[in-house]
Amino acid sequence: MNYTLQPKTQQFLEQTQKMLIGGEWCEGKETFKTLNPANGEVLVDIPLASKSDVDDAVIAARKVFHEVWANFPPAQRSALLWKLSDLMERDKQILVELETLDNGKPLGKAEYDVTGAINHLRYYAGWATKIEGSTIPVNFPNTFAYTKREPLGVVGLIVPWNFPLMIAMWKLAPALACGNTVLLKPAEQTPLTALYLGKLIQEADFPAGVVNILTGPGSPTGEAITMHTDIDKVSFTGSTAVGRKIMEAAAKSNLKKVSLELGGKSPNVVFADADMENVMAGVHWSSFYNTGQECTLGSRLYVQQPIYEQVVENLSKSAEQLSIGAGLSNPDLGPMISEAQMNRVMEYMRLGKEEGAELITGGKRCEGDLANGYFLSPTIFTHQNNNLRIVKEEIFGPVVAVSSFKSIEDVIEKANDTEYGLAAAVWTKDIQKAFKYVNAVQAGTVWVNGYDYFDAAVPFGGYKASGMGKEMGKSAIELYTQEKSVWIGGLG
Ligand code: NAD
Repeated sequence: MNYTLQPKTQQFLEQTQKMLIGGEWCEGKETFKTLNPANGEVLVDIPLASKSDVDDAVIAARKVFHEVWANFPPAQRSALLWKLSDLMERDKQILVELETLDNGKPLGKAEYDVTGAINHLRYYAGWATKIEGSTIPVNFPNTFAYTKREPLGVVGLIVPWNFPLMIAMWKLAPALACGNTVLLKPAEQTPLTALYLGKLIQEADFPAGVVNILTGPGSPTGEAITMHTDIDKVSFTGSTAVGRKIMEAAAKSNLKKVSLELGGKSPNVVFADADMENVMAGVHWSSFYNTGQECTLGSRLYVQQPIYEQVVENLSKSAEQLSIGAGLSNPDLGPMISEAQMNRVMEYMRLGKEEGAELITGGKRCEGDLANGYFLSPTIFTHQNNNLRIVKEEIFGPVVAVSSFKSIEDVIEKANDTEYGLAAAVWTKDIQKAFKYVNAVQAGTVWVNGYDYFDAAVPFGGYKASGMGKEMGKSAIELYTQEKSVWIGGLG
């Protein structure tokens, strides 16, 4: 692999890493290490934010919220967000390289994520000047009623490792556009792009304390945020198990508002009349994208019987052709995020076999040149039992469970037989069938003849145990504001 990092990326990695609190760069009393998952080597030491660091950040964020940010003219808020997006564009390749090193994802996929983050920021820069209330006809004589949307105050943004910068921006952009101040906590596995973003936030000249970046694990850093009594809201993306803890912490502390984007086990349904070329391209990526570390992964694939064997055979051939390697060599698939995640997925591979599913391809750790990193081969199981653990539980790795179905009624029942409801897809040329599935499936997003379309303008979020509250689009404005109803009497 002959990739040479940008000099600025190299410089950033050689610096002592610091957190951003109240506009100052601070070292932590303790540190932790972030690793390169392609080879298990330490990239840098990262400060570990303690409870008292979180307290300091909240004090700074509260002060600047009251004194400056809540009354900052919307056009100026918008201009600052645009300025930040331009700086991200200028330093795009540095962000891409840091994401690839820290998360493992291929350079091309990291570039897609960074571009997505920039577009997201620009979309919400536009919203900063368009947050409106309404006037409401009421039945009292000589009165007037209207609503206005106000920022919540200080919000905590807790982010996972699978799309570190992009998911941070799904939260940061609308939170700031709406006039909140924030504490951003990246995942402990992938803090680098958030810390680099902090540098750009300083360069853009945001008022000190509007954005605080606290690095550290769930305990103590995440817990200090969720338990804090002067934080008004926590927006969280991550596992369903931690999502439950966050709701509990909100209830125990100050009943802060909570929005959650959680796990998934998305049903991907292929009817026999679908366009086979389109299906194969889509199913291939929906099964293995981001090495399966994707909440919307089409990890349950249901194929109608007449074409079932052909789809399994084609998918197996294409899985075996995927290139696997370090992200800097820009392969199709990078490593798993960590040894722990790799072992967790390998346990599911073992379990699939033990439970009687048929292993078609994959099912093992990659060896040879890749033995030092956390690489797994793309894995296909076939089965006819919706109760297997590999069919029920989120694996979060490159593992797809495929089974056949006969009728639309049969497959709708199977698709909905899950605690999750994040996303779903259907492939067919028959519009009647497509709509029947769209209307019956319990999922927050449904794709027809496509997969993983995302746009800042289209709401995204889960049904059932996949979350609460929708990010993106106008929905995120509702997520980061509160509505005040105002009555004016005595107008007669
Ligand atoms: P995780 O829940 O372990 O961690 C997510 C974040 O929460 C990290 O920043 C972590 O430090 C923090 N955290 C952990 N424990 C905490 C606690 N007790 N209090 C406060 N914060 C805490 O999840 P993960 O392993 O990082 O990510 C994988 C999971 O995320 C998968 O289940 C996946 O489906 C889900 N995910 C969902 C979406 C979505 O949009 N629905 C997107 C990406 C990932």
